[in-house]
Amino acid sequence: MSQRETMDVDIVCVGFGPATGGFLTTLVAQASACDLTPPHVLCYERADDIGFGVSGVVTRARGIRASFPDLNPAEIPMAAEVRQEKVLYLLDPIGASRRSLALRAADALIRAFRFALPVQDHALELPFTPGFLHKKGGLVLSIGQFNQWVGQQLMASGVAQIWPATPVASALIENDRVAGVRLADQGVDRQGRPEPGYLPGMDIRAALTVVGDGPFGAVGRQLNQHFGMPEGHSQREWAIGMKMVVDLPETCELEAGTVLHTFGYPEPEIFGFLYVHPDRVASVGIFVPSWMDSPVRTAYRYLQHYIQHPYLWRYLKDAALRSWGAKSIQESGRRGEPHLAGNGYARIGEGSGSTNVLTGSGVDEAWATGAQLGEAVLELLRAGKPFTRENLETTYVRRRRASWIEREGLVAERARDGFHHGVVTGLIGMGLAGLTGGRLWTPGEHVPHYERIPSVLEYYKSKIPAREIARIREECAAKSLSLHDALMERSGWPAIEYDGRLLVTQQDALLMGGKVQAPAGYADHVVFLYPSLCESCGTQVCVEVCSGQAIAPGPAGVPVFDREKCVHCGACLWNCSQPLAEDPERTNIDLRAGAGGLHSAEN
Ligand SMILES: Cc1cc2nc3c(=O)[nH]c(=O)nc-3n(C[C@H](O)[C@H](O)[C@H](O)COP(=O)(O)OP(=O)(O)OC[C@H]3O[C@@H](n4cnc5c(N)ncnc54)[C@H](O)[C@@H]3O)c2cc1C
Ligand code: SF4
Ligand code: SF4
Repeated sequence: MSQRETMDVDIVCVGFGPATGGFLTTLVAQASACDLTPPHVLCYERADDIGFGVSGVVTRARGIRASFPDLNPAEIPMAAEVRQEKVLYLLDPIGASRRSLALRAADALIRAFRFALPVQDHALELPFTPGFLHKKGGLVLSIGQFNQWVGQQLMASGVAQIWPATPVASALIENDRVAGVRLADQGVDRQGRPEPGYLPGMDIRAALTVVGDGPFGAVGRQLNQHFGMPEGHSQREWAIGMKMVVDLPETCELEAGTVLHTFGYPEPEIFGFLYVHPDRVASVGIFVPSWMDSPVRTAYRYLQHYIQHPYLWRYLKDAALRSWGAKSIQESGRRGEPHLAGNGYARIGEGSGSTNVLTGSGVDEAWATGAQLGEAVLELLRAGKPFTRENLETTYVRRRRASWIEREGLVAERARDGFHHGVVTGLIGMGLAGLTGGRLWTPGEHVPHYERIPSVLEYYKSKIPAREIARIREECAAKSLSLHDALMERSGWPAIEYDGRLLVTQQDALLMGGKVQAPAGYADHVVFLYPSLCESCGTQVCVEVCSGQAIAPGPAGVPVFDREKCVHCGACLWNCSQPLAEDPERTNIDLRAGAGGLHSAEN
């Protein structure tokens, strides 16, 4: 049997997103500027290409522009300067949305006074974009194209090597010091058992391990478990972001750089966006948050209702789907910040709590934290100091604490607490926090999602009789289908009329604009830890949320996972409704480092 090999480098990075882009760009640019012998740096990305990320994206791009002072958006495919922004409250045009009495009353008032209000196509346009939300002077980007643009420059420098299609299985933790990483084994069966052709993942030993593996990376979570979270910090707030990249119809007059932010529909809790790229291409998507107390929280179905809202449909009717994607967002922000540095390692980007849920931005924040670490590492290299916890604290963490990331993170920290008492309270809280610089907000307790999600029976009790729910459940189980389509249609949502262009089935979306790939020889990355918990689970939320229909009802109540359909969105990890007895911050699904996923460089 093959032996595990070992390689020594100076710095190893886990994941290539905007955070690592900012880190490597800073390292490469400044190392050459100050005649420092560049360190030997390797970066491993699990997706099959460095341009396969998923994001919105509209960004103020403050951190990005600081790294590229002469940045010309025309050099980045699909990039445009932000030209106009609107915030829209979307009314429910079909009456199926689950609105509270307060919201229904507000909707009725808006409709009654529509002659005096800027209401058009069932949408109320806010008179201005609040300062904390606007992206004036910023950029509309495709994260895939941006990552590629950054990666090409880094590779050309010769300093950093970026290896896509190479998942990092775990960090090497030795005596509470991170000594590098172990790559995923290849030539194994679905359970990870060696098969003919077994190739143990190499150990990459490094003086510094940079963890920029995004919101739900396996290495970041391993560090959270091993080192614990700082007092009072937790990562309980999430959303699944799902988007489509579309060709707008030729008649569409939206100019490149147009940014629409929406709230209120298809469910009041769901925020949405439409950003226009050059050449009549747009990104349109929604965020379904963990605090939406529904057991059938399907992003795909809701996205289809969203794009058909009359305000958006007048632009999107006759549009065609180019690609589609989904990824989780860590919405705990600064409150989800882990230990930022320790002996031999540092955390950057979304997994380090940088995402700002008040301003709705994470790309620039992730980039900036990476750039700060880049400066810190150069300072230590110049001084010939080792990457100890203390040295990283006084260089990297100090920089971060003194920066806009920290200031704005503190303002945003409690901005969404009010949503735990309902959408209206939440919106008031967001407005208060944004307008008062975080001094005021509406309080709310961060109860874990599994304590909040009602059963299907409870959720639909006023709309669907229990006996009918039982029948729907039986029929869906027989066909190995999730429940959400049947339940939503029975409770008033119209069936989706597929047109084969924009409105396509979830399975067709997996094939359009960049099919899902699942290379053979890797273990399954989605694992149901205790099958007995699944058997007694009841509402199998993992099946309902799965972005790729990769989790389906299975025999004896244990779901089945199909790697060929998994887009690595992370939603199953945090939506699973069963906490582990040994650690209630974790659920019965483990999401390990895996290869493959969506092949699309436009998201
Ligand atoms: C639909 C959607 C819309 C969004 N809209 C906006 C927006 O408009 N503006 C904005 O600013 N932000 C937006 N965001 C958030 C933004 O995308 C993130 O905050 C940002 O991408 C975080 O960057 P990161 O580098 O920290 O992590 P990521 O971009 O997640 O990158 C981490 C990388 O690490 C890789 N990785 C993970 N684990 C491993 C492993 N074990 N081995 C190797 N590689 C690994 C992943 O494949 C990934 O490529 C949106 C997000 C979504 C999903
Ligand atoms: S993985 Fe979680 S949500 Fe899915 S069936 Fe098992 S316990 Fe239930
Ligand atoms: S199985 Fe894959 S596609 Fe489905 S929710 Fe989990 S990570 Fe997303």
